[in-house]
Amino acid sequence: MRSSKVLRISVTDRCDLRCVYCMPEEGVPLVSMAEMLTYEEIEAVARAAMAAGVRRFRLTGGEPLARRGLASLVRLLAGLGPDDLALTTNGLHLVDFAADLKAAGLMRVTVSLDTLRRDRFETITRRAGLERVFAGIAAARAAGLVPLKINTVVIRGVNDDEIADFVRFAREERVEVRFIELMPTSGLGPGCKELGSWRPALFVKGKEVRARIEEAFGPLIQAPGADGVAAIHLLDGATRLGFITPLSDPFCRGCERLRLGPDGRLRICLFDRAGVDMRKALREDKAGPAELEALIRTAFEAKADWERGALESLSSDMFRIGG
Ligand code: SAM
Repeated sequence: MRSSKVLRISVTDRCDLRCVYCMPEEGVPLVSMAEMLTYEEIEAVARAAMAAGVRRFRLTGGEPLARRGLASLVRLLAGLGPDDLALTTNGLHLVDFAADLKAAGLMRVTVSLDTLRRDRFETITRRAGLERVFAGIAAARAAGLVPLKINTVVIRGVNDDEIADFVRFAREERVEVRFIELMPTSGLGPGCKELGSWRPALFVKGKEVRARIEEAFGPLIQAPGADGVAAIHLLDGATRLGFITPLSDPFCRGCERLRLGPDGRLRICLFDRAGVDMRKALREDKAGPAELEALIRTAFEAKADWERGALESLSSDMFRIGG
C-alpha cells in the first residue's frame, strides 16, 4: 500500500506578508541563520524520513520563497526520489521562481489566498501584491506545477462573503480551492489589533461553507479517494472544492504528518510545543542516518498516543511551523 507519511519542512520563519491572524504587524523574534538547519542538514533529515517510510515532502514557512536558493533544496529533495514534492506559498514570488523550481524537481504548488479583492488583500495581509499572486498562479500553471491548489482561511465578517467568488474562481481558473477553518494560533490574541483573540464569532464551520455553496450552486458530490486532511467535493462533476476542518471535524486519526521547523525541531503535531531537537542530534550528537531514522520512527509512534487537548488550550506559531 502507498505510504501517506508526510514530512512538512518549514525552511524559514521569515515572511513578507503580515496576515492579521498569523503574524503581528511588527514581526516576531526570528531564528538566526546560524540556528537554522542548512539545506544539507534538511536533506539528511529528509533522507532518514524516507528510510522511516515517508514518501512525500511539503515545503512551507514562514514564506519558503523568502529563503535564498530554495531551488537548490528542491533539487536535493527531488534527488531522494519522493512520490510527492510540493510547496505551500503566499504566491508573491512564484513569478520569479516557478520555472526554476519545476526544473529543480518541484511537482506542485499550493497558494494561500484569502481574498480576490485588492483592497481586502491589503487589509488581510497588511501588504500589497494581489496582482503578483495572480501572476504567480499563472506562472505556476505555465511551469507545470499542477494540480494547483488554493488555501483559503474563512473568517466571519472578514472574507466569508467571498465564498461564492472563490467557487467561481475554482471553476474558471481550474484550481482546487480548499476552505480552511480558522484555528486559534498564536497570531490571534489580545495583541492582534484587527481581530483580537480567536472566538466563535470569527469562526465559520466547514459544514456551513459547504451548505452555503450548495445553496448557491447546487449539490456537491464527495470525490472518490482521500486527500490527506481535506474532504474533497466535486461541483458539476469537475470543480474540486476542499474543506479542511481541524476544529469542527478533526482529522487527527488519519494524520501521518511530521513537521520539521526551521530551527530543526521535529514536531508530531502543529500543537506539539516540545518536539525533538534534530539540530542538536545533527550538530552535537553527530547522529548518523540510523540514529536520525530512529528518532523519526519514534516520532511517528508517538503520534498514536498524542492527545491534542482542548481547543481553548491550543496555540501554535503557525508562522514558524507552517500551516
Ligand atoms: N507562507 C506560506 C503560505 O502563505 O502558504 C506558508 C506558511 S503559512 C503560515 C501556511 C498556511 O497557514 C496559510 O495558508 C495560512 O493561511 C495558514 N494559517 C495561518 N494561521 C492560521 C490560522 N490561525 N488558522 C488557519 N490557517 C492559518
